[in-house]
Amino acid sequence: MALMITQDCINCDICEPECPNDAISYDQKGQKTYVIDADLCTECVGFYEEPTCDKVCPIDCIIADDSRVESTQELELKYHKIWG
Ligand code: SF4
Ligand code: SF4
Repeated sequence: MALMITQDCINCDICEPECPNDAISYDQKGQKTYVIDADLCTECVGFYEEPTCDKVCPIDCIIADDSRVESTQELELKYHKIWG
């Protein structure tokens, strides 16, 4: 399951450089907070035991994206699709 950032985000910039898949950005037109590209988020599978962005966020505004439910196996496949 990919993660998502809620509108509570205070744009503190901490999570963006921590993502090993470069899935977090603040460069989309009209957005007011950081966002996670669900196609790039592997829940950190392939890198860490836990989602690192969730771990570093000071206000806990990174949550599971219920619209993107994926098994660990699917997340592993996504990791290999991204990184070869
Ligand atoms: Fe990036 Fe991991 Fe957060 Fe997904 S869970 S956005 S891969 S840091
Ligand atoms: Fe927003 Fe949390 Fe990322 Fe800071 S760490 S930019 S509050 S999502």
